[in-house]
Amino acid sequence: MQIFESRQGRLKVIGEHPALDLLNSVDVDRGRVSDFLESGVALARWSEVAALTPPDEVQKLVAALEKESVAGAVLGKVHAMRQLLADELLEVRQSEDLAALLNDLLPHPLLSAAGEGVILNSRGDEPAEQRLLARMALHIVALLLSVPRAHISQCEAPNCDWFFLDHSGGRRRWCLMQGCGNAAKARRHRAKLST
Ligand SMILES: [Zn+2]
Repeated sequence: MQIFESRQGRLKVIGEHPALDLLNSVDVDRGRVSDFLESGVALARWSEVAALTPPDEVQKLVAALEKESVAGAVLGKVHAMRQLLADELLEVRQSEDLAALLNDLLPHPLLSAAGEGVILNSRGDEPAEQRLLARMALHIVALLLSVPRAHISQCEAPNCDWFFLDHSGGRRRWCLMQGCGNAAKARRHRAKLST
């Protein structure tokens, strides 16, 4: 697990899947919403922690996203992907909007061959923020097409709606044992003592 330090505080990045880490980049606690991707620079830094941007590309991405005009458009797309993916997993909306957005952000053709093997197609000269959006879209596609829906769960703790990969067949209940899990254990313990 990685920690992302930001103006919103410390965010635990579980690191089980970049698409799920994207969903968990906004926190709702007792009605208070903390969006850790609130600025272009925050997005750039978070994307490194979430393994979406290689360390040697981060400076270029930060420089691009420091420009308000670029950051506004990119954040709009990132927030839209996050919301549409959450809606898709929670089955609260038709999938057309998510499919259209992902198709728009993925390169055409999708793949090319390089020295290190098959990679996401790149002309090599596209802006750093476009590469980030393409990688994010690809991880969402990978999640939707390769992870059975029954293996994607949401934390049961009150005031936590984080998503995580659950390979236990529905037995895992908490996003993190050292967090929501221990808090639930403490609550059960207190409830027992008071009866
Ligand atoms: Zn949780």
